[in-house]
Amino acid sequence: MKEFKYIFGPVPSRRMGLSVGVSPIPRKACNYSCAYCQLGRTDRMTNQRSEFFKLSDILDEFKEYLKEQFKFDVVTIVGEGEPTLYSKLGELILELKKLTSKPIAVITNSALLYDKEVRKELMNADIVLPSLDAHNENIFKKVNRPYGKIKYEEVYQGLVEFSKEYKGELWLEVMIIKDLNDDEKSLIEIKEVLNNIKYSRLYINTPVRPPAEEWVKQASKQSIELAVNILGGISIDMLDSEGFFSEVEDDYEAILSIIRRHPMNQYEIRKFLESRKCSNIEEIFTRLKNDNNVQTVEYKGYNTYRLNI
Ligand code: SF4
Repeated sequence: MKEFKYIFGPVPSRRMGLSVGVSPIPRKACNYSCAYCQLGRTDRMTNQRSEFFKLSDILDEFKEYLKEQFKFDVVTIVGEGEPTLYSKLGELILELKKLTSKPIAVITNSALLYDKEVRKELMNADIVLPSLDAHNENIFKKVNRPYGKIKYEEVYQGLVEFSKEYKGELWLEVMIIKDLNDDEKSLIEIKEVLNNIKYSRLYINTPVRPPAEEWVKQASKQSIELAVNILGGISIDMLDSEGFFSEVEDDYEAILSIIRRHPMNQYEIRKFLESRKCSNIEEIFTRLKNDNNVQTVEYKGYNTYRLNI
């Protein structure tokens, strides 16, 4: 199978079915350095929008990808960083729409929604999935650790504004972290903040993969239930995951192609290999352990693997 640089998947997404990812930004180019980020600390902090990769190259690759005739439900503009930093995002959305009839989704951390131009560019997406992890400046600084002088209030007002202007599906996500915002008082405050945002769905998430900072802990099932009761959303945990799969033939390469974008824990890898009837599972774990490009993180009593190139 052909190697792709900007396009990946399809991968099962708990919110969207089979998703083809389009990544228009370099790894960890982000205007946040979230304490829960599963990619570790941000080493390319920037708030400067740029055409990191030529739009025509991304589109050419997408056309090539379509020739492979994979089945998918949605195209998601995402990245191991913040996709709204791509300065030709608006054009990318419009051009992708010419190439496929499937919905185009954009995942964003919301930071640039204070920028009128970014809001305008997002208008043509069918689904926008913004996140709002904080309900005040203190938590914003602690959890999202934004670039330079980005202020919570301007990000929040940008999101409120966007939610009123946008005609597509807005699926908002909030992150609940143990001992930070999972108590009743914080959840009520979050609810007040959400009251001004117009969204079609609300997803409640909690860090399940190894975070950038050790103090970040997954909220308990009870806290998530409390959050669902107070905020009225759906817990991402409650959604069914269809498990991982890959079109790459070689088992080891298939795992690398997934963990390059999405860390997998040992149980997920085992289940994935079993589903492919792999006969040398232990050998694959040994290779992962000895591969200098693979980082093994022990978290919550088991290993999670991610590719660091
Ligand atoms: S979680 Fe997303 S927004 Fe936060 S640092 Fe990581 S890539 Fe950036």
